[in-house]
Amino acid sequence: MKILVINAGSSSLKYQLINMETEEAIAKGGCERIGIPGGKLTHKANGQTFIVEQELPTHTDAIALVLKELVDETAGVIRSMDEIDAVGHRVVASGEAFKQTTLVDDHVMELMDEIAELAPLHNPAAILGVNACRAVMPGKKMALVFDTSFHATMPDYAYLYAIDYDDYKRYKVRRYGAHGTSHKYVAGEAAKYLGKDPADLKLITCHLGNGSSISAVKGGKCIDTSMGFTPLAGVPMGTRSGDIDVAAIDFLCHKKGMSMDEGLTYLNKKCGVLGISGVSSDFRDLAAAKDAGNDRARLALDMFAYSCKKYIGAYLAALGGLDAIVFTAGIGENTPDVRRDILGGLEALGIVLDAEKNARKNDGTIHEISAETSAVKILVIPTNEELVIARETAALL
Ligand code: AMP
Repeated sequence: MKILVINAGSSSLKYQLINMETEEAIAKGGCERIGIPGGKLTHKANGQTFIVEQELPTHTDAIALVLKELVDETAGVIRSMDEIDAVGHRVVASGEAFKQTTLVDDHVMELMDEIAELAPLHNPAAILGVNACRAVMPGKKMALVFDTSFHATMPDYAYLYAIDYDDYKRYKVRRYGAHGTSHKYVAGEAAKYLGKDPADLKLITCHLGNGSSISAVKGGKCIDTSMGFTPLAGVPMGTRSGDIDVAAIDFLCHKKGMSMDEGLTYLNKKCGVLGISGVSSDFRDLAAAKDAGNDRARLALDMFAYSCKKYIGAYLAALGGLDAIVFTAGIGENTPDVRRDILGGLEALGIVLDAEKNARKNDGTIHEISAETSAVKILVIPTNEELVIARETAALL
């Protein structure tokens, strides 16, 4: 069975064709600059990289080009579209409309239109991606896989904000979380690695990348997560502020002459470690600047580690114990100093890092970085969100 995984953005689109027998991507790539001049496709297959420069006025043009490459004599990996059994689409927000992976039909797409406003930067793009695939591959089975689904198991007292309950009911304003496919994948891999039934495990999964979120996973189910109604909440991120007193936003908007919309763009794009450091949103740049003596880069890194540490402490309490902490995504997988700073000082809680193991370079495999004396296992697990999307899609068929 072969599943095509599509992750559509407003002007870009990433894809992987996954062979479910081996769970490996046989082709992957992306389209850039959809709807703006300078369209480009980068396609990796058969050990080579192929670049096609072609205007891509719409997402339908982009999908058509991807399919052309997939069946191309040199760049292709299949003979015809019939070899694609189904398409799995990544969707950022499900609201309360969808609690699990869902097969696409007209009614489902109407519901998707209704919840588009929950993630105005992402969901409309996913809708464009689905509609483009339906236009180019009519009749092909398609699934929507939501970033929020894994968090649908949170108890009400964890997902609710303390607002007027009637407003929650009317407008569905609550914590939804994000990065669910990643948290789900690494929690599952951790259980396999530890040789335990997920039902018996208490885990904290740290997806630390340009966007970062931390989840508490009990018995294989998410019981709390740091992102909120949108991905703006939680720990400070590349450019997002993370948690902030909303009254401070009103004050800032007033002082800087920003509308609420501009205030939210500011919090999403100009804050986080970029805002604090004034250097970069990229942790590699921050580490280099800190080493060169830049104190604001040092401050940004310290704030990030401190915030992650606080979430770990809170989730340890929420879980009532802890078997393992998992690090994943760009920072979580590749940055030993950040892991050291997050976990430093937690030894009294049974969390002890092995400095030598922690320093090991990421080679794309799972590695354990806890000391022999650590009561809590500490694992680095490379994430694979596309594989979760493909697995969920295959399971629906
Ligand atoms: P992600 O959003 O998961 O791609 O993560 C991006 C973040 O990971 C950036 O802040 C990068 O600086 C950081 N990072 C650190 N080392 C690496 C690496 N070797 N490869 C990719 N990202 C890295």
